[in-house]
Amino acid sequence: MKKHFDPVAALAAARHEFGEHGGVNPSIEQSTTFTVMHPETMPEIFHGHLGPQQGCYLYGRHFNPTVIGLGHQLAAMENAEVGYCTASGMGAISTTLLHLCRTGDHIVSSGTVYGGTFALMHNFLPERAGIHTTFVDTDDLDAVEAAFTEKTKVLYVESMSNPTLRVADIQALAAVAHRNGAKLVVDNTFTPMILTPLRHGADVVVHSLTKFVNGASDVIAGAVLGSKDFIEGLMDVNGGSLMLLGPTMDPQVAFQIGLRLPHLGIRMAEHSRRAKTFAERLRERGTEVVYPGLPDDPHHDRLVRQANPGYGLGGILGVDMKTSARADRFMDLLQNEGRFGLMAVSLGYFETLLSCSAESTSSELGDEAQGAAGISPGLVRMSVGYTGTLEQRWSQLERVLEHMEREGNLRAG
Ligand code: PLP
Repeated sequence: MKKHFDPVAALAAARHEFGEHGGVNPSIEQSTTFTVMHPETMPEIFHGHLGPQQGCYLYGRHFNPTVIGLGHQLAAMENAEVGYCTASGMGAISTTLLHLCRTGDHIVSSGTVYGGTFALMHNFLPERAGIHTTFVDTDDLDAVEAAFTEKTKVLYVESMSNPTLRVADIQALAAVAHRNGAKLVVDNTFTPMILTPLRHGADVVVHSLTKFVNGASDVIAGAVLGSKDFIEGLMDVNGGSLMLLGPTMDPQVAFQIGLRLPHLGIRMAEHSRRAKTFAERLRERGTEVVYPGLPDDPHHDRLVRQANPGYGLGGILGVDMKTSARADRFMDLLQNEGRFGLMAVSLGYFETLLSCSAESTSSELGDEAQGAAGISPGLVRMSVGYTGTLEQRWSQLERVLEHMEREGNLRAG
């Protein structure tokens, strides 16, 4: 049995940096270009013989010390050899896939992924790059295996899927991928701290840092974590997808996110505690709720088996209102009468965010793929925040449920 991994401890061990003048925060290296002391150093950097490890920098799109600093911390948190940061989660996903696949290659992906990721694989990659994807139910390992072709280079899943909250069996999926000569890429956006996919056999982890990791809904950002070779390949001046397509992170953003990482563990535990309590109470009231932290959820045991102890079982829950009209009414009341949360896409904010996935961040899937993914038209995704007190928020939510019941809008079919 593997020893437990604690991402907070790993992060603390990696975070020991001072500012230029002894400041408690690291300095921001706000430069797009870097000087060398001797002219012969410059070609050495271009040829990859010298680099950040030797304290040699070239140009901000290539490497920036502040962005590297955040990459080190994220790598520690994700138990990765190396990490580097991108301008968005989509920047991390697209450059990873374009680095692992060439024209004619093939991806096997979970059919339940964020709408933008689905559109990238379903529309953009086949049309623009000749890379095709087969979408499958990744709970069905036989179907996953059967979807592989000799051209398959990537098996792609979300650790906890957006918005259906299905938990990937990372070890089993890694075994299928590796048996077929492919890499397992896992999007860990929904479960930082809670799950560490690289510990279970994933090859690459991608993140939208825009969500829980930053936690303040004020910056768009992403990251890629994996082996040293893989990240160096992404940053190669001649062929690296991240280097050449250019979605690298700005150092100001890296600095901002670096200030919020130290409390990510505390935040995840509180997001999870509140989501679990609301899920239990909603269930007690007879509301149809999806939350893998509930013991009777089909993915509960798998989640518990893979989770790092101490951070709970996720800060997001789904409430199935069955129809989009009821979902809209529910969100309208929650925001405008109950003052419980905000109708907005995205997740991982300190306030509760509410969106109807079928009409918003999963709309790219269309009706058929939504049906196959099990996304109900009335599913309200609730990213549970931690402002106010839990009891205050519960009473706001409960008042809205009572209002819906009075209207005959809650259990009507
Ligand atoms: N991955 C998941 C699971 C997401 O939910 C999102 C955005 O909602 C992304 C990736 C894309 O991230 P970004 O908006 O930072 O590009």
